[in-house]
Amino acid sequence: MYGPLMADDVVKRCRADDHIDLHDRDPGDKLGWDKQWAQAAFAEEMAVVSDLQRKFFAAENTALLVVLQAMDAGGKDGTIRSVLNGVNPAGVDVNSFGVPSDEERAHDYLWRVHAHAPAMGQIGIFNRSHYEDVLVVRVKGFAPESVWSKRYDHIKHFEKMLADEGTHVVKIFLNVSKEKQRERLQDRVDDPDERWKFRLGDLDDRKLWDDYQAAFRDAIRKTTTPDAPWYIVPADRKWVRNLVVAKILRHHLEQIDPQYPPADEGFEGLIVE
Ligand code: AMP
Ligand code: MG
Repeated sequence: MYGPLMADDVVKRCRADDHIDLHDRDPGDKLGWDKQWAQAAFAEEMAVVSDLQRKFFAAENTALLVVLQAMDAGGKDGTIRSVLNGVNPAGVDVNSFGVPSDEERAHDYLWRVHAHAPAMGQIGIFNRSHYEDVLVVRVKGFAPESVWSKRYDHIKHFEKMLADEGTHVVKIFLNVSKEKQRERLQDRVDDPDERWKFRLGDLDDRKLWDDYQAAFRDAIRKTTTPDAPWYIVPADRKWVRNLVVAKILRHHLEQIDPQYPPADEGFEGLIVE
């Protein structure tokens, strides 16, 4: 079983490389954990993340961008909810990217995402992102191949620029199985409290499952870099997903190694009256 001190192993195991095949990554992987243990470990990891975030927020000299991508019902919203539970909300900036507005469509595809890149000291979370422009756009043919095929390089350069300027970029693919997606979409249809999340269009996308998997595979292969790595997180079980994401956040915040800014001179022995 992986203990809290072995975060690096989990992080390494979920990291993508430039020849990954999604068929080799089991969405139902439990990583040797059991649910009760993993839920307790999640709370412990988030306590560490929260401490690191306090320093990161105070230091205000780096930013962390977490890009979340998944198929429908892959757990993006749930991941954001659980992670936000454990950190200071003032230091988190969540942005969702849906179908582009007229104004957004009138600009290049990176314009709308760049505007929401996190400020120094902030953890930015992208619920969908510029990757939609090589995913849905490719699968649905919203742009010709001659256009979307050039975007992998743009994206790599864009993310390198962010990294060079102080923003750590971490990209997470919540890897859900086709069967689990079916279950979750069915729940959305059946449960009045979940129905608002369901759109008929989700079924059209589901029919294109294999095309989406291929588009994800290519996006991950072509844009995973040391400066902006992709992680493939087993996402059929929420308790596995949450703990893996917590470990990834911890790992990257530890790499950043934030420090409180030095106090002004003259505080020593000061009495506040
Ligand atoms: P949701 O995240 O469920 O609110 O759905 C947002 C929808 O917006 C999804 O169907 C995405 O595929 C779609 N979307 C996001 N970005 C783009 C884009 N750049 N072009 C076209 N559709 C997009
Ligand atoms: Mg949806």
